[in-house]
Amino acid sequence: MQRYSVFALARQAFRNHEGWERAWRSPEPKRRYDTIIVGAGGHGLATAYWLGRNFGITNVAVIEKGWLGGGNTGRNTTIIRSNYLQDASAGIYEKSRSLYETMSQDLNYNVMYSPRGVMMLAQTEHEVRGYRRTAHANALQGVETQFVGPERVKELCPIINIEGPRYPVLGALWQPRAGTARHDAVAWGYARACSDMGMDIIQKCEVTGVRSEGGKVTGVSTTKGEIDCDRLGIVVAGNSGVLADMAGFRLPIESVALQALVSEPIKPCMDVVVMANTVHGYMSQSDKGEMVIGGGADGYNNYTQRGSFHHIEETVRALVETFPMISRLKMLRQWGGIVDMTGDRSPIISKTPLEGCYINAGWGTGGFKAIPGSGWAMAELMAKGHSPLADDFSLDRFREGRFIDESVAAGVAH
Ligand SMILES: Cc1cc2nc3c(=O)[nH]c(=O)nc-3n(C[C@H](O)[C@H](O)[C@H](O)COP(=O)(O)OP(=O)(O)OC[C@H]3O[C@@H](n4cnc5c(N)ncnc54)[C@H](O)[C@@H]3O)c2cc1C
Repeated sequence: MQRYSVFALARQAFRNHEGWERAWRSPEPKRRYDTIIVGAGGHGLATAYWLGRNFGITNVAVIEKGWLGGGNTGRNTTIIRSNYLQDASAGIYEKSRSLYETMSQDLNYNVMYSPRGVMMLAQTEHEVRGYRRTAHANALQGVETQFVGPERVKELCPIINIEGPRYPVLGALWQPRAGTARHDAVAWGYARACSDMGMDIIQKCEVTGVRSEGGKVTGVSTTKGEIDCDRLGIVVAGNSGVLADMAGFRLPIESVALQALVSEPIKPCMDVVVMANTVHGYMSQSDKGEMVIGGGADGYNNYTQRGSFHHIEETVRALVETFPMISRLKMLRQWGGIVDMTGDRSPIISKTPLEGCYINAGWGTGGFKAIPGSGWAMAELMAKGHSPLADDFSLDRFREGRFIDESVAAGVAH
């Protein structure tokens, strides 16, 4: 693999940038692989990457019906944080956040990780109590967060209206090492590293069926033909229910649209990420100067990558009352993705009733932050049969009533 560095950049500048190699190969599928991962989003690619890096398993195909990163991985608002409540969540989200810190060096690909700090505003007494509790839980878990008062909120983000027309800002849960990263670079960086290890990333190839014999997976049917495998990983976010159906089991998941929008670019005015859960909206500023805005998920199940109009109105209304200065900004574009929501708002990383078939799903509105840690855990589960990071997130928890309730931490779409 060609190494990216300042010297390589200078060398290529003298050659009119004509000497760059393709970042990853685009091969036709082979007849058989040891392992197939369905879905070339961040979670699927990270799973393949850690299978190769940690376990030397490289006879792997990642199969994608569209283009890599074209699902939620390339559609999210890129917030990375690990201030969840339950120990199992803190384990996997903090592992993930720490892997983001070194991802650019590990992959030799600049994912623009920016630990600028994330603030979750408390605008009711109930939220104050909830976030204080989370800050205490995080202290025990080794996750660095603090509950800060309204003066510190104003200091960290001067454009906030802390008096608020409806809900004054009473404080915030502040995680200084949380932040953002460039979402498609995460997918591209993993794809390049996987391709370099000899794995095949097969785009424009839809999985249309899961084949099995005697209760064990044997391969998949695709729009490019039949492909055999010993192990199958289903990592398709909003399409998880559809793939599970093909494999013959049901998931406790709903698929709904979640949308985001960006404004025209303006001068730097905000260098932290702010989430306002009570009024329901969140915002950060991209390196280009656009205000990146996200809101709530649709209240009904659907598979459209658009989202309904009234949510845009509600989100913009919430943000204008929190940041009055944005009231005259023009919005440039809006888009949606299909997110996979579980009842306890925690993910599923699990074996399935079909032997050799594993599923990674249910990250809902907040799985971008979890990509490296989730891939790490899923790869360990697929290679060794269990992973300490993933054990609590198995499908069994729904049967046994061991829910991992993160409805407060994941209560706003992020
Ligand atoms: C608007 C929006 C904002 C968000 N904001 C944040 C945020 O700020 N922070 C955060 O942490 N998370 C956020 N999320 C959630 C996050 O984007 C997702 O949890 C995460 O990207 C899921 O990654 P994935 O790899 O599982 O899924 P995806 O990236 O969706 O990848 C799944 C892939 O599977 C492919 N696929 C599906 N069916 C098939 C098939 N039959 N055959 C082959 N391929 C198939 C799809 O084409 C897709 O590319 C947001 C999501 C949205 C939509």
